[in-house]
Amino acid sequence: MRATALAGGTGAAKFLRGLASCTNPRDLTVIGNTADDADIWGLHVSPDLDTLTYALTGRLDLRRGWGLAEESFNALAAMAALGGEAWFRLGDRDLATHIYRTRALRAGRRLSEVTEAIGRALGLGVSLLPMSDDPVRTRIQTPDGWLAFQHYFVRDGARPPVIGIEYAGAGTAAPAPGVLDAIRTADVVIVCPSNPITSIGPILSVPGIREALHETTAVVLAISPIVGGAPVSGPAGDLMRACGLPVTAAGVARAYAPWLDLLVIDRQDSTERHAVLEFGAEPVLAETLLTDHDREVALARRVLEVLA
Ligand code: GDP
Repeated sequence: MRATALAGGTGAAKFLRGLASCTNPRDLTVIGNTADDADIWGLHVSPDLDTLTYALTGRLDLRRGWGLAEESFNALAAMAALGGEAWFRLGDRDLATHIYRTRALRAGRRLSEVTEAIGRALGLGVSLLPMSDDPVRTRIQTPDGWLAFQHYFVRDGARPPVIGIEYAGAGTAAPAPGVLDAIRTADVVIVCPSNPITSIGPILSVPGIREALHETTAVVLAISPIVGGAPVSGPAGDLMRACGLPVTAAGVARAYAPWLDLLVIDRQDSTERHAVLEFGAEPVLAETLLTDHDREVALARRVLEVLA
């Protein structure tokens, strides 16, 4: 079964780790969000692509959910001592990834080529594609003006009230090579448990991707990142509210209507079943809190069982 996943960072990494351990990783293509990429110290940082690569090659720091395990932060401390920008936590070994990527991009290579090269070097079994080689950037509107996503999320701790969201550059971006084909020719498309507004939303904003989801003959299944009426982590609640969506599993179904076939919701949200159905998706109950590897594998098995 060929599966294509749409993925953000932390939530997606947990689910995909489970999925990759009970399917052939070669049959798995992951389309990663690049709209929270940022320029830090002149380096091109791709947080979601790196979280996925590190998670699927066993390198992720599991406690933090981002960055490399057993990391040190000496360069960051030295930068802070200089009075330089130190709000974005770049680890010492992680820096190598960003330097490698930035040099390759400056030499004229595309983000998709660099992502493939990094994945190959680190032994990534799945095919990881950025949603686009063109810059698309999530921007958050607050009462004090527009913020780049990482300023809102990391520097300001997702505390500013959110008025609006935009995906700058999306109008003229093209899907990265292989993205549309991966959606059109898959047997199943899986929307990972990721922030619907700042991880999946930007992927959907790339021209052609929504159309491919409409046209594909694949079954399209999503896993709700909203459990018990709240996100498991991160600012998805505030962002969904700002987009006029209820912070519920049904709100996720509404965000992905009308191309979503199945929505996996947590057992504790079983009362949401009818509301999910009203948005055109069939609800599937499962244990979706991915607190350890056994639970990651169990959810992946449940998803495969439903799809079979
Ligand atoms: P961000 O951290 O909100 O910027 O977004 P990401 O897309 O990188 O990942 C976080 C999303 O994953 C949040 O919306 C979480 O609710 C969701 N998430 C994280 N862990 C879990 C989990 O164990 N189960 C489920 N169902 N969702 C999760």
